[in-house]
Amino acid sequence: MFEIRRRVVTAVICGNRRAKTDVACNEGRLAEQRRDTRMEDSTPMYNDSTPPLISHAKETASPVQIGRGVAHANGARPRHKYIILGAGCAGLSLCWYLLEAGVRDPILILDRKTEFRNDRTWCFWDTEPTPFTHLATHRWPAWTVRGGNDEAGVRAASPATPYVRLRGGDFYRMVLDRIKAHPNVTVRLGVPITGGYRDEPDGVCVPTGAGDCHGEFLFDALALGSPRFPVARPGDLTFLQQFFGQVVRTERDVFDPQTVTLMDFSVTSPVTEPDPAIRFMYLLPISPREALVENTLLLPTVGGAKDALAPPENAATGRRAIAAYLSARYDSPAFTVTSEEQGLIPMTTRDFPLRTGQRTFAIGLAGGAARPSSGYAFLRIQKRCQALALAVTTGDWKPVDQTFSPPRTAMLDRIFLQAMRQNPGAVPDYFKRMFAHVPPDMLVRLLSDSASFRDCLGVVRVLPLGDFVRAAAFCVPHLWADKRGGPH
Ligand SMILES: Cc1cc2nc3c(=O)[nH]c(=O)nc-3n(C[C@H](O)[C@H](O)[C@H](O)COP(=O)(O)OP(=O)(O)OC[C@H]3O[C@@H](n4cnc5c(N)ncnc54)[C@H](O)[C@@H]3O)c2cc1C
Repeated sequence: MFEIRRRVVTAVICGNRRAKTDVACNEGRLAEQRRDTRMEDSTPMYNDSTPPLISHAKETASPVQIGRGVAHANGARPRHKYIILGAGCAGLSLCWYLLEAGVRDPILILDRKTEFRNDRTWCFWDTEPTPFTHLATHRWPAWTVRGGNDEAGVRAASPATPYVRLRGGDFYRMVLDRIKAHPNVTVRLGVPITGGYRDEPDGVCVPTGAGDCHGEFLFDALALGSPRFPVARPGDLTFLQQFFGQVVRTERDVFDPQTVTLMDFSVTSPVTEPDPAIRFMYLLPISPREALVENTLLLPTVGGAKDALAPPENAATGRRAIAAYLSARYDSPAFTVTSEEQGLIPMTTRDFPLRTGQRTFAIGLAGGAARPSSGYAFLRIQKRCQALALAVTTGDWKPVDQTFSPPRTAMLDRIFLQAMRQNPGAVPDYFKRMFAHVPPDMLVRLLSDSASFRDCLGVVRVLPLGDFVRAAAFCVPHLWADKRGGPH
């Protein structure tokens, strides 16, 4: 076996800034590799400004291991009770909750990346506690949406449920620190899963380039790299949310640190016939002189991730768009870029079964955690992983068989995606209406999967009736099929 018995001393993220280089396509390999309509891996490519938490860049020939590693007691073939594919948000969250639930059986986590980096930012409305929320570096009580038919922005605030921001690196470090204290957990990096995985009579087998791994239960947290990512059914709606972000530092005060810009449609090019992408800027102000600015595209697709921009093109487009945006919106401030990130999130009505086999489960983006109408996934991942860990340990599977959102919200999401497809030019107006006329707390509940029937009605009534009746009429046959669980 390829195990290298090497305890890795975790390097703590420190402030060393790396020089800015082009975003390397070290994880994603987007467009070229796509087959049929399956969403394949688009794990974002980062040129992050922080050094890796854990790296074995010089040892590319062999996987790196965190934790003690576990061989089968009788010395026969190595076997783990739980195998988790993917050491990202979902894989590590599940491990956290398994440990929390008292699991001391062997857990093996495999990932092809060779190091952990502060590679992304997670934001969400602080509507429910998670073990990680205290890591938030920022809490914004207010947000704004700009653009559409007029230039004026709409501002809303909900101090009781602020919009919070977590750094990916802080999350990874917290989970890895816990893992290091539990000898039953092994994380192996530098292990690409290329051949899928298969059910066996007594468990699951994962072939890897360095040998087969056997386990009793498998959790697939490979995001868009999952070999069992569901294909689209006729009638499914998918937008690819593709973005490129830069953390910028300006030489004078320009940002309002109290207010997040969720969407600014006003300085981006409007939707045109041959280019149906909906574009907007997303801006997280970290201080009056520092912000994460993201050029965001919502691309309608039937072909899946192959319709996304190739990462270098996305990066080049994003850099130009961000410079133009800062110039137009903030009166040409001089600025420097301290880090960049990019990613792709599927916003889709595809059917994501929790179980992908006898003893295999899909979690994270591979398990449909991204909300179809927004792409937010962090809180959904937490809820699903926590429920799954409890189910595994208690044998009560009922809570995990529930869908992410109640049928009324799923229905609204489908209708909203259809309206976006039918009227891409009207999307800024839809969002502005919602943020202007729906009470902020109500809207936050809708965006955070906790909307009541009354909340849903409160949102529907501010949207343009004609557009949404037409979209709903189009969706009816599919809604019915969804309900029956039948094919479309
Ligand atoms: C840049 C970015 C910002 C986001 N911001 C937000 C946000 O603000 N709020 C929010 O709610 N959601 C956000 N999301 C969406 C979602 O929360 C994240 O994508 C989240 O990380 C998904 O978790 P995951 O575990 O499914 O995937 P990931 O965290 O991407 O983990 C997948 C792991 O699988 C590994 N992998 C993939 N393919 C293979 C393979 N073939 N072999 C071995 N390993 C493989 C990857 O290396 C990776 O470590 C964001 C997504 C991105 C990309």
